[in-house]
Amino acid sequence: MAARTYLRLRPEANLLIIDADSTVGGVWSKDRLYPNLVAQVKLGLFNYTDTPMSPQGKTKTDLVTGNMIHQYMAKYADDHGLFRYIRFNSFVERAERCQRGWRLQIKGSADIIETEKLLVATGVTSIPNMPEHFDTARASLPIIHSKDLGISFQAIQAPHVHTVVVVGAAKSAYDAVYLLLSMGKKVKWIIRPDGAGPLAILPTKLLGGFNSIAVASTRLMTYLSPSILNTEGTLYFFFQKSSIGQWCTAKFWDTVTYLSNRHAGYSKGDHVAGLKPEVDAKRLVYLLARE
Ligand SMILES: Cc1cc2nc3c(=O)[nH]c(=O)nc-3n(C[C@H](O)[C@H](O)[C@H](O)COP(=O)(O)OP(=O)(O)OC[C@H]3O[C@@H](n4cnc5c(N)ncnc54)[C@H](O)[C@@H]3O)c2cc1C
Repeated sequence: MAARTYLRLRPEANLLIIDADSTVGGVWSKDRLYPNLVAQVKLGLFNYTDTPMSPQGKTKTDLVTGNMIHQYMAKYADDHGLFRYIRFNSFVERAERCQRGWRLQIKGSADIIETEKLLVATGVTSIPNMPEHFDTARASLPIIHSKDLGISFQAIQAPHVHTVVVVGAAKSAYDAVYLLLSMGKKVKWIIRPDGAGPLAILPTKLLGGFNSIAVASTRLMTYLSPSILNTEGTLYFFFQKSSIGQWCTAKFWDTVTYLSNRHAGYSKGDHVAGLKPEVDAKRLVYLLARE
């Protein structure tokens, strides 16, 4: 999107998009897709405003799948002639200041790229964050990071793989556990006792059938959540500063937390109760504020 916007402003620019992956999409690139990968987001909320996303492939609950996002981004890049600017399979391992602007070094290549301007759009999930003592090279069993679930899917599917240990309790761990259980694998889930604890999960639909992320994306939610970007106006003063407004805000989050707890089924047994996040009351405020 940054490249497309830049080219609209300066069509004559000598632009290069450098990407370590072999296809477009980043998180949603081809190698990172696996069958159950579904975004939390409803159709219509995961596309650029100038191009709707095709509904083909959406889930029964109207959510968009990883494959839909990949296809959408590939088509977007194609429609706007961006492929000819992209250099795939190129990892920038060093970027340093030079007289012209920036000098980039590509891993495994003698090429040096100099540019006047550098726009960094590397995301936050491209480099796996492996626990310190995991020696992947010497391990007797394969250790796979959630980033590589897509390319490891066939190997995990093999019938001799009966049990998989999942370490961690953030969103990628939930995704992995769900995928493995749906593949018929036995899962042992390890969550460290310290740290932030398991992620709070929100039902797909809230308050009489509204998509949760659609609700979270409304302007009303900016008044119901603490935000340093929203500290003015009558609604802000009512919901965040007046005692009756604060009471309403608290009740709203209590209700959302109650509905989410019920949906998650934490009371159904010890195996589910262990997933209850440590920060309990109104914890969904933090989840939604982070999203
Ligand atoms: C499993 C998963 C599920 C998610 N689900 C949702 C969701 O449902 N809804 C939502 O809104 N968000 C979701 N996200 C968040 C997701 O990060 C964003 O949706 C979005 O993809 C971020 O886009 P980005 O362009 O900032 O970064 P990315 O998509 O991560 O793209 C970064 C790109 O930079 C490249 N790169 C990184 N470092 C280098 C380097 N040194 N040299 C060259 N190239 C480099 C990578 O190869 C990649 O192509 C999810 C993330 C994950 C991991």
